[in-house]
Amino acid sequence: MTVRIEATADRQFGTNSYLVQDEDTNDAVIIDANLEPQLMIDLARKRQANVTAILLTHTDVDHIAGLPALLEAFGPIPVAVHEAERYVVADGRPLRREFGASTDPLDNVVSIAEGERFRAGSLAFEVLHTPGHSPGGVTLKIGDSLFTGDALFAGSIGRSDFANSDSRALLDAINTKLLSQSDELVVYSGHGPATTIGRERKTNPFLT
Ligand SMILES: [Zn+2]
Repeated sequence: MTVRIEATADRQFGTNSYLVQDEDTNDAVIIDANLEPQLMIDLARKRQANVTAILLTHTDVDHIAGLPALLEAFGPIPVAVHEAERYVVADGRPLRREFGASTDPLDNVVSIAEGERFRAGSLAFEVLHTPGHSPGGVTLKIGDSLFTGDALFAGSIGRSDFANSDSRALLDAINTKLLSQSDELVVYSGHGPATTIGRERKTNPFLT
């Protein structure tokens, strides 16, 4: 299987949405729904992607604000989210005490959890629970690629100063679930450029 990965980023928060497409079948998923969903809709149409699901690394507003537009464009496809944050999108409740609710309740929300495989058409993702930035943060793994959301960035790690963040849990998750992966695995983060596990292991100032 050849998987093509492309990102679109919104201008307000620089939040990445990813199109992950099987080049053999054109089956695809979108990972995270940033504030400019039209960029992703245009990209998916250009690639003739058959988008079969939306996966969320976590449910901060800048990662879910585009959901209604994506669901309108691609139909009532499943939205997969860790069970600890399902209520945010299923019930339209706020993730953070510090902010208000960011979406209306959505139908067709699927819970995912550590160790599961999430299948969408010809694609299958391994779910790694990487909490700390938020309780239900996940890293999604396919082939040699890791989608880490706001757990791990090139040269940085996620914020853990919210009421429901946990800096110890974040470092523990990065160490046990991410840095345990091979050096050559590519890290696609919630914000900023891609990196590799090896580069972060050696140079990330928050991890050395
Ligand atoms: Zn973010």
